Order: sequence, then C-alpha cells, then structure tokens
Amino acid sequence: MKAYSELNKEELLALKSQLEAEYQDIKAKGLSLDMSRGKPSVEQLDLAEKMLGIITDNEDVKAENGLDCRNYGAPIGLPEARKLLGDIAGVSADRVILGGNSSLQLMFDTVSRSYSHGVLGSIPWSKLDCVKFLCPVPGYDRHFAVTEYFGVEMINIPMTEDGPDMDLVEKLVSEDPAVKGIWCVPKYSNPQGYVYSDETVRRMASLDPAAEDFRIYWDNAYGIHHLYEEAEKQAQIPDILTECEKAQKPDMVYEFISTSKVSFAGGGISAIISSDANLEQIKEYMSFQTIGNDKLNQLRHVKYFKSLDGVKAHMKKEADILRPKFEAVESILEESLGGLGIGNWTRPLGGYFISFDAMPGCAKEIVVKAKEAGLVLTGAGATYPYGKDPKDSNIRIAPTCPTLSELILAAKVFAVSVKLISAEHLLREM
Ligand code: PMP
Repeated sequence: MKAYSELNKEELLALKSQLEAEYQDIKAKGLSLDMSRGKPSVEQLDLAEKMLGIITDNEDVKAENGLDCRNYGAPIGLPEARKLLGDIAGVSADRVILGGNSSLQLMFDTVSRSYSHGVLGSIPWSKLDCVKFLCPVPGYDRHFAVTEYFGVEMINIPMTEDGPDMDLVEKLVSEDPAVKGIWCVPKYSNPQGYVYSDETVRRMASLDPAAEDFRIYWDNAYGIHHLYEEAEKQAQIPDILTECEKAQKPDMVYEFISTSKVSFAGGGISAIISSDANLEQIKEYMSFQTIGNDKLNQLRHVKYFKSLDGVKAHMKKEADILRPKFEAVESILEESLGGLGIGNWTRPLGGYFISFDAMPGCAKEIVVKAKEAGLVLTGAGATYPYGKDPKDSNIRIAPTCPTLSELILAAKVFAVSVKLISAEHLLREM
C-alpha cells in the first residue's frame, strides 16, 4: 500500500468508500470498548489479592517498633514502609514522607501549600501576579489540571525521546522569575513511555532558576514499571536528588511515587521525597492537615511485599500480563497503518501508555469516529495544558485495562477510524 499522500483523488475516493464499508461493518457489531484511562486490569489487581487478608487478627497490627497501627501515631509513616518506598525510589528512608493513597494528592498539596504559604519562606504564590509552570507536552492531563485549577499559566515544552527540550527549559527557568515549576514524568513518561536521558537528568539538576522557589515536580509514577526484563537496566537514570545535591541545589526537587500501579489503584500508598529543608516544611503542613495516614495499609504493603525484591518479583508478574497487550496494539498498528504516512506511535519498554500522533488536524475527529463505533479513547487534546493540542494530532492509548481480546478489537476500530479520517482529511485538502 502506498502512502496516502501519494494517492490521487480517484484512488482516495475509492479507498474512502472501502474504508467506510469496513467501518460500518465494525459499527454494526455494537461494541463497547474503552482504551481511555490508565487503569490496571482485574487480572493485575488479582495479583495482589493476598494483601487484602494479610492482617488477620489483633496480633498482626504491630509495626516493627511495636506501634499499634490501629491507633494514631507515626504521622509521616511507619519506618519500614518509608524504607520500602525509599528502596523503590532508590533513596534512604529519611528522605521519604508517606502520604495517603494518592501521589497526585501530594502533588496537589504541594502546589496548594506554595500558594498559601510559599516555599521555604518565599512569597506565597497567591500574592504574586503571575505564576508559570513548564509543561512538557504531550503530558499527563491531571498534572495540567492541578496547575490550571490554581490559575497557573502553563507553557508547553516539546518532548523528545530524551525528555523535555532542555535548551528551552534552561532558557525559560533562568530568565523568568515567574516560572516556579516544571512537571516531569522521568521514566516511561505519560503518554509516550519515554525515559529521560542521563544528560537530561543532569541538566535538570543543574538548572539555574531566576526564582529561588522554583521546584522540579519529579513524578516517578512508573519508575519500576518495566515491560521487559532488559528494560530495567536500559531505563536506569541518575537519581535526581543526588544530582541536585551535587549541583548544590538540594532543595530544587520534589519527587513523588506511589504503589497505585503496583498494588491497588487508589488503594496503595504514596510518598513525597525531598531534601531536609523541604521535608521540614511538608511535615509542618501535614501536622495541621492530618493526625496520620492509614498505617494499616502501610503495614499491609510491608507484610505483603517484604522488600524491594518482593516488589520487583511482583512487577515481573504485572509485566507478563501487560507485555502481550502492548505488543498486540503495536502489531495491529503496524499491520494496519505502517507505511501509510498517516500516524506515528511510540513503542514503550515500560509504563502504561502508547502515544499516537495522527496527521495534524485529525485527532479530534478520530476520537469521535472511534466513539461512534463503540471505542472510548482519551479525549483529543487531553495531553496538553487547557486541553488544547495546537496541532490536533496527539491521542493517548491506554492498553492496560481491556482484556487481550477486547484490546485486539479496540486497536482495529482505532486503526480503521484513523484511516477513514485521514482519507477524508486529505480529500478535503485537495
Ligand atoms: N502520575 C502519573 C504520571 C500517572 O500516570 C498517574 C496515574 N495515572 C498518577 C500520577 C496518579 O497516581 P496516584 O494514584 O498515586 O495518585
């Protein structure tokens, strides 16, 4: 098959009617498929089933230091749970404060605290005329939603396979004191699955911000979510805290992690990881916010996983479920769209998403077309601040939740929708 751009009008018209027939056949099946959100499948959740019943009686509720986890205490988390999450992130336990069930909430709190109380004594952002954040795009919609909610002006930063365009990041951060933060998903980025290069991590840690209260929001949500065993080594990147210390900027980063995509989504444990000075401010804030998070859940995680090795063994089982799903989508995309010049997609070695770039001006229509045939996709534009993809091109594919057979169908519906909309688009432009 030739690239669509090489077809003449008659060829495109013939192709369009053939695709329309194909599309109508699929539509007639009355499918109900969903590739919209990055949720684990039931099969993945079942892997951690034994965690649910791991605390069986009153003898099981004691932490290692004898603390009764049914009662108040340990406001920043059980020491053994802080160690477990520290091991996952590759930092020592004293760098770690545990939150509740959601790392996103810790990110929201961090922005909120900066607005109400400032960052380590600087002017609270609520008193400033303008606060800006750098947003690598395409990126995670909920990051952008947090900063939009607070009225932050968001600036798009193009992503490359090595991470954000660091020339632009360095320029904006060093020139503009209104730039207070950058959203980063350094490993298996949402939605591309890119891993920041060592150089990107080091340049990030060596930033020379105009604002003393500039912070890197290092959301390491997928730090251990490898689809392939070899990927673990390939995806190793320098520890951002260590790099910031080396660059004499120990306070410049907040790292966030959680077990949402390890144990239970929304039923896991989360952590914020940072310098002593930042952690002191966070502790003070938290002391007003809560008397403590759910220690029984922290204890369940420690008893179930036992150690980093336990977590890694569990993640291998997760990968065994996810790998065939990613591969199925990728091979259907390749078979149906390869060489047609109407879309590019990523082939991640980990994480939860595939990023698809359609021909400019087509993403919204593709999402609508797929929906009419019974396939729900993440809304076009969602991967950009304010929901505005300037090229109307990017679509996030979330292959984790459907079963393999549903996913195969879903990928086919998607591919036909892409082909049909691309043909219509080219015909309109003739
Ligand atoms: N960060 C990223 C990059 C994510 O993709 C997600 C979940 N989709 C989260 C954070 C949410 O994590 P949590 O459940 O810990 O709030």
